[in-house]
Amino acid sequence: MSSTEKPYRIACIPGDGIGVDITDAAIQVLNKLAEVAGNFKFDFVHFDWSSKNFKERGWYMPEDGMEQLKKHDAIYFGAVGWPDVPDHISLWGLILPIRKSMNQYVNVRPTRILRGTEAPLKKCGPKDLDWVIVRENSEGEYAGQGGTTHDHTAYAVATEVAIFTAVGIDRIMRFAFETARSRPCKKLTMVTKSNAQRHGMVLWDKIFHQVAKDYPDVEWDKMLVDAMTVRMVLHPQTLDTIVATNLHADILSDLAAALSGSIGIAPSSNLDPTRGCPSMFEPIHGSAPDIAGKGIANPVGAFWSAAEMVRWVGKGELEEAADALMLAIENVTEAGIRTKDLGGDKNTKEVTEAVCKEIEKVL
Ligand code: ATP
Ligand code: MG
Repeated sequence: MSSTEKPYRIACIPGDGIGVDITDAAIQVLNKLAEVAGNFKFDFVHFDWSSKNFKERGWYMPEDGMEQLKKHDAIYFGAVGWPDVPDHISLWGLILPIRKSMNQYVNVRPTRILRGTEAPLKKCGPKDLDWVIVRENSEGEYAGQGGTTHDHTAYAVATEVAIFTAVGIDRIMRFAFETARSRPCKKLTMVTKSNAQRHGMVLWDKIFHQVAKDYPDVEWDKMLVDAMTVRMVLHPQTLDTIVATNLHADILSDLAAALSGSIGIAPSSNLDPTRGCPSMFEPIHGSAPDIAGKGIANPVGAFWSAAEMVRWVGKGELEEAADALMLAIENVTEAGIRTKDLGGDKNTKEVTEAVCKEIEKVL
């Protein structure tokens, strides 16, 4: 795209808590990237869909919210959730309906130890923890099906139904194998709990084996999710691409982020691989009420997510800009300009300004 062409339209939903701080920071960095690159532009459209507004208005998204989002090339999301709204209300009010309605059935969560940062595992070298977690993002344990009877009594019974479909499993497995194939060591680890969960997880196993036949060049193995947590800590260098269900991958990706140094650095891409709907980019962390409004949130996960968004909307044409943003981020972490969660003493604004300056040098 040349600068005279139409800009990429990005729907921004800062949401709650530090979601607001890090979205502002990401927009600043993206605008700097576009300005220095000179061959593309962004048009950011803000949506004030937050828990604060939910309390005042009674809704997170208006009725035509999905239609509004569909007019954009991508969605940039901060975080949702605040202590005075039950978490299942905020999640089901905003982020989960977007993922489902926008056909974002893949959630890609890479993990890497960034230059200059330290992983908590002493034996872990910088190359030992270079993973991509592929999370099934549309069904499974987050299907939202179930119910409660005898509520508010001592005999209350609740069911939470996990839904696994052959179509849903097949498409996530294919995406995971393609991801593994695109990486140097071509290795995929598939995670289940099929010893205890004897229906959905067994179907997950079966379809995995069918799909694996189409990828003879990809080495694979299988793990139960409990054993997987042990392997991630004790033998991180034996892993590369990982595929897991909605719930399992959510938990494993928080662990992965912590092992790489901080939950504040980890990015995620909620993708509609068919490109029929806009995909959504967000750091994996939540609204972090304990540090909200203090200006000290680590914006690196937000910047990394922004870099992934640049790659996605650019469809191969903005690789140089996305790589430059990642290089700028790591030059800054290496120079010791880091927030407290990474052992530094800088605030969000200082890290953001440093990344903007670095973009000018590297692009
Ligand atoms: P969610 O349910 O939305 O995933 P959560 O309850 O898991 O949220 P988070 O908000 O993700 O919690 O964060 C947990 C803690 O990690 C925070 O309370 C905060 O101390 C720390 N944290 C998270 N994100 C950041 C960040 N970007 N910078 C610094 N610290 C962070
Ligand atoms: Mg969490």
